[in-house]
Amino acid sequence: MTGPEQKLEPKDLAATGRNLLAFAAEMYPICRSITGKGIRQTLETIQRQIPLELHHVNSGTQVFDWEVPQEWNIKDAYIKDAAGNRVVDFQKHNLHVLNYSSPVHQTLSLTELRPHLHTIPEHADWIPYRTSYYKRDWGFCLTHNQLLSLQEGNYEVRIDSTLEDGQLTYGECFLPGTLKDEVLISVHACHPSLANDNLSGLTVATALAAMLRERTLRYSYRFLFIPGTIGAITWLARNRDAAKRVCHGLVLTCVGDAGGFHYKKSRRGDAEIDRAMAQVLKHCGEPSEILEFSPYGYDERQYCSPGFNLPVGCLMRSVWGSFPEYHTSADNLDFIRPEPLARSLGLCAAAVDILEKNRRYLNQNPCCEPQLGKRNLYRATGGGSIHEEINARLWVLNFSDGEHSLLDIAERSGLPFTAISSAAELLATNGLLVDIS
Ligand SMILES: [Zn+2]
Repeated sequence: MTGPEQKLEPKDLAATGRNLLAFAAEMYPICRSITGKGIRQTLETIQRQIPLELHHVNSGTQVFDWEVPQEWNIKDAYIKDAAGNRVVDFQKHNLHVLNYSSPVHQTLSLTELRPHLHTIPEHADWIPYRTSYYKRDWGFCLTHNQLLSLQEGNYEVRIDSTLEDGQLTYGECFLPGTLKDEVLISVHACHPSLANDNLSGLTVATALAAMLRERTLRYSYRFLFIPGTIGAITWLARNRDAAKRVCHGLVLTCVGDAGGFHYKKSRRGDAEIDRAMAQVLKHCGEPSEILEFSPYGYDERQYCSPGFNLPVGCLMRSVWGSFPEYHTSADNLDFIRPEPLARSLGLCAAAVDILEKNRRYLNQNPCCEPQLGKRNLYRATGGGSIHEEINARLWVLNFSDGEHSLLDIAERSGLPFTAISSAAELLATNGLLVDIS
């Protein structure tokens, strides 16, 4: 039990932020996809920070209505003009290739090449991120300015990739607690050089696992580092028993930009994680918005599919798809910042703190208020105001009737959960409450 332990939070926000950004920068250049060497290299990088078990699932494996695809790997890709200059070069940016492109080596006219070229005319200096996982195709992504500079003539196009039977790899970090009940934290590990979506999620989840590892935990924690969609489907297909033990869960994505927080509720809408997130957002001091569940989004789509209906929500800063940098080369290491990364980690830690400490107590002196003064409890003991501390003690005493949890009391009183749980710990130490959870 965490019990009277300190609040779970990053010690030094600035240093934590710098470390998170440095870790994102280490993984940024890797050309990731839903399968292949890039995602494996990424998982091995994470493995140097936390205990991560890698699972390999063969191509062709049936996972519910889906099939694990062939493994994609790429060495090089380019478009060369008639003079032999690389006018589009995978070596300069891995977004230049349509992710999962089939191999190709041809000479084409510009007219023949054009249907295979993807640009963003309204952001003429940005490279778009495009994929074709489940339909065989090839293509290049380039800046619109690059496209405009291409002269009529013939171009040599080469994508030196392989699509072969291989394996899908995902990473799982399991931290056992006193309870078999699990908290699931799930992040994508499949995007190439894109920072907010999803290196921010990878770095925050890794740091959270590293923090929790140092703790004695009530719940067991399972961190999944998986390729988008197919990874969650594969994990759920292979872990139906573990899925039944998930009682709280979070998908993390886009948590490193300067935007305010957005929390998308689980399909249940009133799960404890939904209430814990609402509680931490209310008191985090940053702008935030709570969004209702919809079946469109990240991997909460799979966890919240009706056959599972797990209590899993999704934490974001800017909402995916809503910011212009999303899925472009402008979602780079300058777009994520140390402080928002560190504050996102702090928010996740605060939510975990609520899950760990939320319990029910029974007031041992329920007939009228106990006399706090004679127990030396009518004075401040922590860093908060006397008014808030005394108020929290009275709320906890009044509602510790065996029915209300500390989170119920925090919600009803409007006081921060931290004030309520500190009050409960103090009152329990003084024999006025008994933990009945
Ligand atoms: Zn994405």
